[in-house]
Formats: sequence, structure tokens, C-alpha cells
Amino acid sequence: MGLLAVGTPLEWSEAKKVASHVREWGIEQLLAIWNNAKGKERDMLLWGDEIEYLVVAYDDDKRTVKLSLRQADILEALATDKELLKQGGGVPDLARGSVKVGKTAPVFHPEFGRFMLEATPGEPWGIGFKDLLDVEPDMKWRRKIAKEHMEAREYPITLTTFPRLGNKNSLTPDYPISGPKLRSQFLPDEIANPHIRFPTLAANIRSRRGKKVELNVPVFVDSKTQQPFQDPTVDFEMHNWPEDDDVRKGAAKENCIYMDAMAFGMGSCCLQITFQAKNILEGRKMYDQLSPLGPILLALTAATPIYKGFLADTDVRWNQISRAVDDRTPEELGEKPLKNDRWRIPKSRYASNSTYISQDPRLRPEYLDPNLIVDEALKARLVEGGMDDLLATHFAHLFIRDPIVVFAEDLQELDLNKADHFENLQSTNWQHMRFKPPPIGSDIGWRVEVRPMEIQITDFENAAFSVFVVLITRAILSFDLNFYLPIARTTENMETAHARDAVLEKKFYFRKDPLPRRAGRTNGSAPGSAAGTPLPSRPATPVGSVEDEYELMSVNDIINGSSSPGGFPGLIPLVESYLDSVNVDVETRCELARYLALIRGRANGKLWTAAKWIRHFVREHEEYGQDSVVSESMTYDLVKAVERMTEMEGRDGFGREMLGGSRIDS
Ligand code: GLU
Ligand code: MG
Repeated sequence: MGLLAVGTPLEWSEAKKVASHVREWGIEQLLAIWNNAKGKERDMLLWGDEIEYLVVAYDDDKRTVKLSLRQADILEALATDKELLKQGGGVPDLARGSVKVGKTAPVFHPEFGRFMLEATPGEPWGIGFKDLLDVEPDMKWRRKIAKEHMEAREYPITLTTFPRLGNKNSLTPDYPISGPKLRSQFLPDEIANPHIRFPTLAANIRSRRGKKVELNVPVFVDSKTQQPFQDPTVDFEMHNWPEDDDVRKGAAKENCIYMDAMAFGMGSCCLQITFQAKNILEGRKMYDQLSPLGPILLALTAATPIYKGFLADTDVRWNQISRAVDDRTPEELGEKPLKNDRWRIPKSRYASNSTYISQDPRLRPEYLDPNLIVDEALKARLVEGGMDDLLATHFAHLFIRDPIVVFAEDLQELDLNKADHFENLQSTNWQHMRFKPPPIGSDIGWRVEVRPMEIQITDFENAAFSVFVVLITRAILSFDLNFYLPIARTTENMETAHARDAVLEKKFYFRKDPLPRRAGRTNGSAPGSAAGTPLPSRPATPVGSVEDEYELMSVNDIINGSSSPGGFPGLIPLVESYLDSVNVDVETRCELARYLALIRGRANGKLWTAAKWIRHFVREHEEYGQDSVVSESMTYDLVKAVERMTEMEGRDGFGREMLGGSRIDS
């Protein structure tokens, strides 16, 4: 999750004084990159995926499972494996701040939690369809390599969150709670990656807010859940730090599971896809068109029904991460009148995105976020430096935030051959889409990162969602599809995606007609038949009321298509039309069909999300007391079951509700 610079980090009181300085230099670095790279053309659309893992450690005799805090040892074992290095693999070299890029073997990275790992393919995936089929074996290989560099009792599991994180007996080795950095009631400071960036991030977010972060997740009320529910793990008597007053001042809300540290959010795992666009125009279009798909992808991948040993009434991680890094002050939150701060800010740094950036005549001003906060002075500087208004607005919006981790050494002189100050702000704006300028001095082009998806239990599912996102992106570009929706609706959709079983129970705002307007086309027809016809060079700007362009739809309608005549064609049928329009051999098409069948099944309810499967597992467990409590031994059985599913992928019949059979009929 971002750059691992080395140096002496400033405490918040000091970092705050140099915030404007860092922002101004960041903007100068951005302008240098922009002027240098705005015309950069790459001849190939490349892409990559990122998988985040939790490392768990079992004690089979005691029937317990804990998070293993051996990230550094495991990364070290991977980095020094001579055989692996021969294949080009490696890990970021923290000491020198450089990253060795593997040729073929995967690359492992540290993540926020000291119990996390991240792995990416050794080389980006290319445009070829064959590459799509290599993703799943590569993901399996990554997990195998990770496992081989762990102790026998450890396993790299792809659950979004550890079910009992924040309870006693959940970490190995264990440390005393309530350290100076986090001041958490539930977690030790040692929970974070020891690289100074991570504990400083957590501490400075807390200092900037003036209190600990506050995560309250509604508890799932079962037949014997205590009513009203008061989180029994909260200690109202603790007096180690001034922050211990938070709970006495009402931080822990009734009927909610309460959490108080960054690791409860940033200790969650996701699946991300990054595209390299051919050029900046294409990148800007992908950023805009994929944005409305974010909440749909979140609902489809829902995998987070448990927090801190309790069943939650929500299914996804998103808002918890958002609150876990929410550094807004009471003034920015609107809790106090503005006096020292510059703005009221509607969203956390981790949130759904708030800008559109494509120079597309179909982008109507009505789609833009009416509540967008922008640093006008920085925007003016970007425009003066040659950037267009739309993109300048995007970056000047990201730059309303303060830099959280500032290294004293970096403030000596402005180096326009570096991007450190720019990246400082860019990489701590965790929006569901990220637009990434080319790194300085490399061959890489303009990139777009798709960030909302939850990690899936099996590599099959992670490959399926990766491939789906790639194919829909290609369909978007090939057919010039239009998914524009007012940003405020996407923001609402993101909230909707949190509901229990949102994928089946909720409706989402979505554009009714995604097909480009051209003469002679009837509304709602599939574009495949006309795929050979060149599109008009400039699609028309839509007219009429924006509200008439979209409606509430089920995820099933969005993914599989509406059954009503002239209704939404469906993302999978659009992908199928795209596949019809290009040359894909039968074998590849069959393999891709397995993946598309999983997505179809998730959307129509024939296949369960991981959230549903996990919730069901807990509620059916013989020790479950219908009281929302997920005990240690239930957690052990759950994690074992998840490992079994990861290894067997339903071949033994286990987990078929979620994965389908070896041939999935949907
Ligand atoms: N783990 C975070 C998530 O679940 C993302 C961290 C990153 O940006 O790599 O969204
Ligand atoms: Mg990551």
C-alpha cells in the first residue's frame, strides 16, 4: 500500500506545520510528470492483479488458530530463496527503498498488518487471451510459494478479515495491548508492519483527529443476541491514555461492534486490478467508466460478515477501512463550526471516488459531485502549468488532505526528478478507483487501479473476478460503452453494497442504456452484431433529463441483463458480445465461461457470496448459541474449512453453494 521511503518521520505536530509545503512540492512534481508524460503512448494494454493474504497459525492440539505476526521473517525467507531469485522473484528491498521486479516468479510485498502479505505476478499480464488463462495457475503458484516459506503450522488464507482480531488469544506471538502509537483497547502496537511508515500513519491519523479512530459496525441480531447489544469486550474502566476516555464519551455505540484502531480496517484484504492504458486519454476514459461498477463489484464479492468475534449485520469491509483511516477533525466532520480548518469534508480519505476525469463529450456537468471540495490555489497552479481543468480539479481534490507521514530528510530541496511528495498525497487517498501517472524514469504508462473488490477465498474466484474486470474493460473500450451516472449515486450505491446480502436484496442506481448512440440502432440491442462497424469518432452528448438516464436495478439485471424488452443488456452479455467479436479459440472460450458462470451465479443467487457462506457456517455450527458470538473454536473450524475450500475448490463437494460444481450451471 504505497511507497516505503526511509528516514525520520515527523510527529503530527511537526508534520502539520509543513503540510502546505509538501502539497506545493507534490503539485510541482505532478506538473513535471504531466508535462513529461502527457503524450506518452504505450502500444499495449497491460494489466496486473494484487492478492492480499492473512497469515494464520494453527495449534491443532488445542484447536486454536491465531494470526501469525511473522510477516518480516516470511518476506525475508522469500527474498533469500536462491531458487526463487533465479526465476526472477524477489521482494521490495526496504533498506535501499528499491523494488526488484521479478521476471516470472511472483513478487511478494509487505502490507499494513504484520500478519499480511501481498503478492503480484512477476510480470504484467498482456492483451492476449492466453494470459487470462494463466492468471489462476499463477495465483495458485503464488499461494504455494508463500506457503513453502512459512512454518508448517502456518497458512496464507484469503479471508478479508481475521474473525476474532481484537480478542485475546488472536495473535502469535502476543504483545500487551494499549501501546503508545495506537492506544487501542484491543490491539498491541506490534499489530502493524514495523516499517516506520505504518505505525506513524496510525499514530498521526489519531493525532490529527484528536481521538482514536472509531469503527462501529451494527451487530447481527440473532434470536438470542443480548438486547440492546453493548459490546462486552469494551473496557470502560481503562485509564492508560487520555484516549481511554473515548469510550466514556460515547465512542462505542449501542447495538454495534466497536473497534478503535487502524488495523481493524487496513488489516483487511482485497483484490485489486491495475491497468496500463495505451495513453492518457484511454486511461481517463477507463477511470470514469469503471467507477459506477465499483459498488456492484463490492456487493458481488462480499466476504466480511464477522468483526472482533461477532457476526455483523453488514457483508463488506469498505466502511470499516474508511473509518479506520478517517483523519478528519471535528471541524472537517461538521461537528464543530469551522475555525482552524479550511473545509467541511464529506468523505474519509478511504472512500468511493468523487471525480470524473475523461475528456468525453458524454460527460455531462450534472454527473459531477456537487459537494466536491477542491484546493483552488493548487488547482490554479496546475492549470497555469498546462493541465486541463478537469484533471486539475481531480488532483486539487485529492490534495485537500494533509500528508500524514512526512520524513524530515525529504524537505531539504525540491527534486523534480522524484515523485515522493506527490505520491505522499496520492497514495494516502484510498478511493475505489485510482488514476496513476507514469512513474519517473520507467517504461510504464498511465494506469488505472480498480480497488473495491473483497478478496475471495479461492484462487478460482479471485481469477474469475480479475478476468471479469479485464473483459468488461475491453468491452467498454471496444464498444465505447457509456456507464456514466451522477457521482452522488455511486456514493449512495457504495452504502447500499454494505447491506447483508445486498447482491440479492438491494437495488443499485445504474445507467439504463450503456450503448453508444449511433444512427439506426434500436434501444437495448446487443452491440456484437455491429462490432465490425466503425464507431463515430465523437459520440453525441446526451440530451434530456439526467434522472431519466438511470434507474434502480438489481445486481442480477446489471450482470445478467434485464428480461424486460429494451431493458439493460447486462454486463456478461456485453462481455459475450465482445468475445464474439474477437477471435477466441473454443478451448479458451470454454475456460473463460467457467469464470463468467461464477459471476452470473453470484448475481442471480444460485451461488453464494463468501459473506453468506461464512455467516451460514457460523449459524449452523454446533457450538453457536444464536447470540452472534463467534468463539475461538468456531473460528478454528471456520478457518480450517476455508483452507479446505482453498485447496479443494469444491472438488470434494465442500463449499459448492459458493463455488458451484466442477461444471457450474447457472
Ligand atoms: N487492503 C486494503 C483494502 O482492502 C487496500 C490496501 C492497498 O491499497 O493496497 O482495500
Ligand atoms: Mg495492498
